[in-house]
Amino acid sequence: MTKDDRLLVWLRDAHAMEKQAEAMLSAQSSRIESYPELKRKIEEHLAETRRQAGMLQSCIERRGGDTSTLKDLMGKFAAMGQGLGGAFMGDEVIKGSMASYTFEHMEIAAYEVLIATAVACGDQETVAVCQRILNEEVAMAAWLGENLSSVTSQFLSLEEKGASAKR
Ligand code: MG
Ligand code: FE
Repeated sequence: MTKDDRLLVWLRDAHAMEKQAEAMLSAQSSRIESYPELKRKIEEHLAETRRQAGMLQSCIERRGGDTSTLKDLMGKFAAMGQGLGGAFMGDEVIKGSMASYTFEHMEIAAYEVLIATAVACGDQETVAVCQRILNEEVAMAAWLGENLSSVTSQFLSLEEKGASAKR
């Protein structure tokens, strides 16, 4: 496989990953009730995620890729996303935050790989797109990392008071 073919495969993988992220974030934001700041941040990143998927699609099309097969690849990240946006017994907000934190770091790794590949192919436009997306993933991962302990404190305090805490 040439590096140009490889870049196209990995752009498609990234597009599938963003569609999975969109499904996960959308499910989470619709379920969160007691954590307004977390909900707002997830909604903000959901909008970013939709733009990311669109930008990747443009890169794929510009490189002559066939977007009709994108649907087939969506299952690739299903295992990772499975249950992440779903219901958990009593600690949904915590398990969801942990899953999001993990997912953002997987995205960071994917864009580091894509940037290096696009550099090797001399595709400056794809480098710029992936660098922009990477910055958004880094910012979201950092926010989640910085807020995991405060979400946990809120959860523990709400749960102990017998208030609605799980989501
Ligand atoms: Mg993303
Ligand atoms: Fe992300």
